[in-house]
Amino acid sequence: MKEKKPVVLSGMRPTGKLHIGHLEGVLNEWVELQKSHECNFFVADYHAITTNQDTREIKQDTFDMVKDWVAYGIDPEKSNIFVQSMVPQHSNLHLIFSMLVNLGRLERLPTFNEYLKEIVQVDEKDVKRVDEEKRAKVSYGFLGYPILQAADILAYKTDVVPVGEDQLPHIEFTREIARKFNGLYGELFPLPEAKLGHAPRILGTDGRKMSKSYDNEISPLDDLGALQTKTKKMVSDSTRKSLSEPGHPYECSVFDLQEVYDLEGSKQVYSDCTTAKLGCGDCKGLLPQKIFEKYGEFREKRESLRDQDILEVLVEGSLKSQRITGETLSQVKELMLMDYIRK
Ligand code: SF4
Repeated sequence: MKEKKPVVLSGMRPTGKLHIGHLEGVLNEWVELQKSHECNFFVADYHAITTNQDTREIKQDTFDMVKDWVAYGIDPEKSNIFVQSMVPQHSNLHLIFSMLVNLGRLERLPTFNEYLKEIVQVDEKDVKRVDEEKRAKVSYGFLGYPILQAADILAYKTDVVPVGEDQLPHIEFTREIARKFNGLYGELFPLPEAKLGHAPRILGTDGRKMSKSYDNEISPLDDLGALQTKTKKMVSDSTRKSLSEPGHPYECSVFDLQEVYDLEGSKQVYSDCTTAKLGCGDCKGLLPQKIFEKYGEFREKRESLRDQDILEVLVEGSLKSQRITGETLSQVKELMLMDYIRK
């Protein structure tokens, strides 16, 4: 009998066209995982509206993002690719799981507190004021999004969830929900394991996190001219004042890219930088061609994909997801003795 592969689930909010950080981090890992796992990759459109309720661009952003996935090597023949809002079982499980969680536990999740600090920006000691601001600014949906994540994961009886470090508490939280359900109603859910990725550090051209909202992205679709302009303005080692001083490659985001795009060549760059033989301008000048060449095949494949191709992938994947999660939901209801209305 064919051995069952471990099940993976991972998603991205629909952000439109991806930048090189997404490709070299998340997508590289997904491509690897699909070789040995049963993969489910989804467009987390319900998660997207927890923080931004403007849905006018969501359709095009979804198509643009999934084109990038497929062009980069996420193969619909190997991996299930779907849209969260097309699979109502996620929402149904979210509702059931929300009865198993108390408010205090949700409010203690670190991601929630980080978000609060960002949007409320008041002295944490002023508890009453934090509480009032929180009630005014945080939606019920946002507070509960880790429960929706748990539903996403458990609906597929997922074994492995690739995550960044900040999401580890949510996987622990998902395990708690699985344990609670299994204890109350009967064994059904495996306890998912988090898989920490090894994404390379890729910062934006201004030295901050690479993000569309900071306008500091490098795109795999950039032409050579755009890459030359962008790499030229990249922030390098800020302590290096002149060519005669040695640089510190590990404190330089240009060097991060040298390692990603030419690991072998980066050894020479390291040596020349630390012995003050290489200036930052020349060092940056080495990058555009390497970045451009790396994504040649990607650009070609992406160009050939039409919205209709992506639509077909997403419809087929969402129907498959409905079948998988429909079965899980039936088992949930059976164990809860809530399948009592039947023909
Ligand atoms: S030479 Fe290159 S690696 Fe060294 S500090 Fe300048 S940009 Fe960074």
